[in-house]
Amino acid sequence: MKLSTRKAFVGRRKMKSKQRERAIVVEKSMVTTPTSVTKERSASETKLNVFGIDMEEMLRQSGAPACHFEECYLFVQKSIMLDFFSILLCPMCKQPGLTFATSSGELGFATKARLACEVCDKVVKEDFLCERVGGSKSQTDPFDVNLRATLAFRGIGCGHSAMKEWASTMNLAHVMSYDAYRTAHQKIADASRHTFQEIASKSREAIVSAYNEIGEHPDENGILNIAVSFDGSWQKRGFTSHNGIAAVIDLLTGLPIDFEVLSNFCIKCKAVEGEQEDLEWKKRHEPNCPKNFEGTAGAMEVACAKKLWSRSIEKCNFRYATILSDGDSKAFDAVTSLNPYGTGVQIQKEDCVNHVSKRMGMALRNLVAISKAQKVQLSGKGKLTQEKITKIQNYYGRAIKDNSCDIQLLKKRIMAVLLHLSSTNKMPKHMHCPPGEHSWCFWQRAIAKSTVPESHEEHETLPPDIGKKPVPIFLRLSDEALLKRCARQKNTKSN
Ligand SMILES: [Zn+2]
Ligand SMILES: [Zn+2]
Ligand SMILES: [Zn+2]
Repeated sequence: MKLSTRKAFVGRRKMKSKQRERAIVVEKSMVTTPTSVTKERSASETKLNVFGIDMEEMLRQSGAPACHFEECYLFVQKSIMLDFFSILLCPMCKQPGLTFATSSGELGFATKARLACEVCDKVVKEDFLCERVGGSKSQTDPFDVNLRATLAFRGIGCGHSAMKEWASTMNLAHVMSYDAYRTAHQKIADASRHTFQEIASKSREAIVSAYNEIGEHPDENGILNIAVSFDGSWQKRGFTSHNGIAAVIDLLTGLPIDFEVLSNFCIKCKAVEGEQEDLEWKKRHEPNCPKNFEGTAGAMEVACAKKLWSRSIEKCNFRYATILSDGDSKAFDAVTSLNPYGTGVQIQKEDCVNHVSKRMGMALRNLVAISKAQKVQLSGKGKLTQEKITKIQNYYGRAIKDNSCDIQLLKKRIMAVLLHLSSTNKMPKHMHCPPGEHSWCFWQRAIAKSTVPESHEEHETLPPDIGKKPVPIFLRLSDEALLKRCARQKNTKSN
């Protein structure tokens, strides 16, 4: 819309009567001290991380300028802003009498302003008080402030009516129209999709290298078997929701792999229900119709699972060969009967703790095999024998089972296994081993019973040079996020 006529503006006299009005005013040239710059910037970044992904990046994708301090927004009370201008002299006639007027809406949170002189009757400056996304001059592009506002409300799970409510409570001069909100929303949705695709492809690379680290590699066709957790959620509680989402998350890294959104409702299709079928309209509407599922909300999770499992190879080069049990086996039953990977790969359902401890065993065996190929002998008497690996695997699993309420203690207990194994008579390192008479650590058992600990030779700890080798494996498998996932699962199960 154009705001070049005087009519679109409220004159100075009129403005005086409206001096209690408040408005959002965007001012770009006011710069404060560098300390407040940093403070402001980090605050904005925190705020923009609402979806758990880099919203700054997302805004860049959607064309919005990055959040530099010069680009930030300020809340300004209009009457005070007018006072500021009233003391200035007109740059043309050098007389006081500047009027500052703003547009009367239709631009959402954006405002167009005009600075004019009453004395010489000239317009000093007339412009928008904020930019369109990416500084675009195209009138079809949304204003940055409107895009951000939409993103913010979406981020806290609210929509346009909440935005209107907020704007009215804040006494803002204007608010976005529903259409403008929809447009901005669409732009954000496109950007999110694009960003997710980029994140997903990076995630897949990270997952493959994490599995490589613990000795699991893709097969000859480049397909990797992984363990995932699968979870569905609905827009509303109960089974009345029209929209459902389910996601597949890799267990080892915690990275999201793929998701599916199902909806059994379309407001536009509902509106024409019962009317004579308009084929032209249907053709136009179909590509944008959000309804992609016939069935109840309860059936959505299973339908999502089937979709995700059947496209895992084609889309991600993964077989979701292990699904972590969460008590509800509907999704597992569905993918088992779907049998997406043929008879060669049976999908397993497994407990998180058991699965992760098996990973420890697998990784250690792999370490021995790799070292052997490099002519470094890690197995053999007094070294990393099969027996010892099984022991480590069990200690590790027990640490998770016993300490999952305290992640920091759990990490300590896991590292204790390694320290215990590299202990010698000269240098015992059992300070983090679990205390008590029933501890798996002979040293701690002896201390609990007030006896002298037996010699380390009798307990076959590892020679120091070999004890160092599994450190990267222990670091990977004591990753906080991984342990938290196991703990969460264990704790919800015991509830
Ligand atoms: Zn003038
Ligand atoms: Zn529809
Ligand atoms: Zn010990």
